[in-house]
Amino acid sequence: MTTVAVIGCTHAGTFAIKSILEQHPDWQVEVFERNDTISFLSCGIALWVGEHVSDPKRMFYSSPEELTEAGAHMHMRHEVTNVDIKRMTLTAKDLTNGTERRHGFDKLVITTGSVPAKPSIQGLDELMASGHVMLCKDYEDGKRIVDRSKRIKSVIVVGGGYIGSELAEQFSTRGIKTTLVDALPHVLDHNYDSVVTDAANKAFEEHDVTLAMGQKVIAFRSATGSDGVEDSGVTVVTELGEYTADFAIMGVGLVPNTRLVSSQLNTLGYGAIIVDEYMRASNPEGEILENVFAAGDCATTRFNPTGTNEYQPFATNAIHQAGLIGANIEHPTVAYMGTQATSAVQLYDLSMASTGMTLDLALRRHKDVTATTIEEDYRPDFMLSTTPVRATLVWEKGSGRILGAQFASRHDISMAANAVSIAIQAGFTIDQLAGTDMLFQPNFDQPINFINSLAMAAVSERNGQ
Ligand SMILES: Cc1cc2nc3c(=O)[nH]c(=O)nc-3n(C[C@H](O)[C@H](O)[C@H](O)COP(=O)(O)OP(=O)(O)OC[C@H]3O[C@@H](n4cnc5c(N)ncnc54)[C@H](O)[C@@H]3O)c2cc1C
Repeated sequence: MTTVAVIGCTHAGTFAIKSILEQHPDWQVEVFERNDTISFLSCGIALWVGEHVSDPKRMFYSSPEELTEAGAHMHMRHEVTNVDIKRMTLTAKDLTNGTERRHGFDKLVITTGSVPAKPSIQGLDELMASGHVMLCKDYEDGKRIVDRSKRIKSVIVVGGGYIGSELAEQFSTRGIKTTLVDALPHVLDHNYDSVVTDAANKAFEEHDVTLAMGQKVIAFRSATGSDGVEDSGVTVVTELGEYTADFAIMGVGLVPNTRLVSSQLNTLGYGAIIVDEYMRASNPEGEILENVFAAGDCATTRFNPTGTNEYQPFATNAIHQAGLIGANIEHPTVAYMGTQATSAVQLYDLSMASTGMTLDLALRRHKDVTATTIEEDYRPDFMLSTTPVRATLVWEKGSGRILGAQFASRHDISMAANAVSIAIQAGFTIDQLAGTDMLFQPNFDQPINFINSLAMAAVSERNGQ
């Protein structure tokens, strides 16, 4: 019988296990997970902080029991401490009683995910040890942050990406004085150009969030908190100033958790396991390993706008990649379609959604790119209500190929990013998107849907009109 070892069981692990057992119900699937839960939706942590979660237990969509019933052998609270890919063995430590055991396998699935980036900054380790600075990744982090948020009057969130921005939004709606710090010049810099994030800055300012953008954190210091007690708070020191609060969160991104295998496999510079279109890893010489697979935050994705291997840690990518492992674990059969890193965020009543490359990123990678931006009401103004959509389309000047798009509005524009994601995936040009059939009905949109309108504006710009 074929034995498969799966290391890690959140999104990629759960989907890989289900897909393997669907295709090979008679195989032995041994799952090692260091936590006692699986499939936690970290995307709900900020909503949990803001008291928008009915029951935190519902933030899990699977359970060890469900996977056991499907046929997996679940080794919960087991941490894999060593992997030998040449010998096809691993060592797992039972975190309940401290015992270690070696396991052999025929096929290995690595779904060890990511860990929050923790830059080497003076005072950070000490302040983390005392609980005044926390990271935000898993269920335990979520519990700690929610618990702490009930006892604080002020908070500093370091990192203005999706994770930090969502946390800052939710803290501020609870009346907690919030400061958002980032070294980059504007919030959500990786996924949005400033022409779109202006609206996010405004939304934060309207909710009294102090934005400290363009300033790198250089130290953390213990401070007197709002209760007046010495050492009950934290000061975050940046290149440009100092900010003091009761508590701070580091949300400066995710890095691949591949320490166990990175010297045995071909990885990108920062440790993401390079996988081919069938999710197979390769050895450091670049030779495909037919029996070693990786998916999710520990692996690379193919970023369609560039066609290159990139690191894009999203649950969406983890699920798509891992869902292919069952079909490919015996023979390479179904290829991964790649990603546009399509993503969204809601800040107060502002919806923002993005797909593909920002102009900023495209200019750093391409020579000949431009962006077209429009702002127009999403539906006719004879309706009793309507609201503007700001949209930007990033495209290649010569070919007209679409590379990315971003949208911001008080209207729900999340599906617009999904629509342009399909266009990028299909290799559409601005002319093709301008001519794509889209519905018109006054409840929903204008006679020319704003996505068509955006592409038409790009065509006009290219034609010099
Ligand atoms: C606050 C937050 C909000 C997010 N919001 C979104 C969102 O809205 N949309 C979106 O698409 N993505 C979002 N993400 C990203 C998303 O959570 C990740 O992309 C996703 O969790 C990746 O899943 P994964 O299974 O690959 O890795 P992980 O979730 O990192 O899971 C890895 C698993 O492996 C286990 N493990 C690791 N090492 C070992 C070992 N040695 N032994 C045993 N077990 C091990 C870990 O305990 C863990 O369970 C968010 C992330 C965070 C932190």
